[in-house]
Amino acid sequence: MMKDENCIFCKLANGDIPTATVYEDGDFRVILDANPAAKGHALILPKEHYANLYEIDDELAGKSMILAKKMITKLTKALGCDGYNIVQNNGEAAGQTVFHYHVHMIPRHKDDKVGL
Ligand code: 5GP
Ligand code: ZN
Repeated sequence: MMKDENCIFCKLANGDIPTATVYEDGDFRVILDANPAAKGHALILPKEHYANLYEIDDELAGKSMILAKKMITKLTKALGCDGYNIVQNNGEAAGQTVFHYHVHMIPRHKDDKVGL
């Protein structure tokens, strides 16, 4: 399994640093964002290290989006929110700050003032 010893998301995704886990399977761990843009802001982290969408394996990239679809479908009902942003940043110029591929899932409510 590809991991980067200096990568915080590798450690979180693989349970080397304990964190509140929303969902886990063989490929991914979904955790709550430490600095949420909105309540319930979660991150899909692959357990393998890929810096971004340029680097990640096609099949795993596809799986991450299928997982996002499943999760927002459930969570929209569970949280009673009105919509979801799926955000995925690639490269410093695009606002990426942690260089381990991740998908943001941000719950939205009508007329909330979340700025992305
Ligand atoms: P990016 O800007 O790279 O797309 O998103 C990185 C996200 O990771 C940010 O929303 C930031 O709040 C979150 N983050 C950074 N370090 C940690 C951490 O140690 N734990 C958790 N749960 N989230 C983190
Ligand atoms: Zn990593």
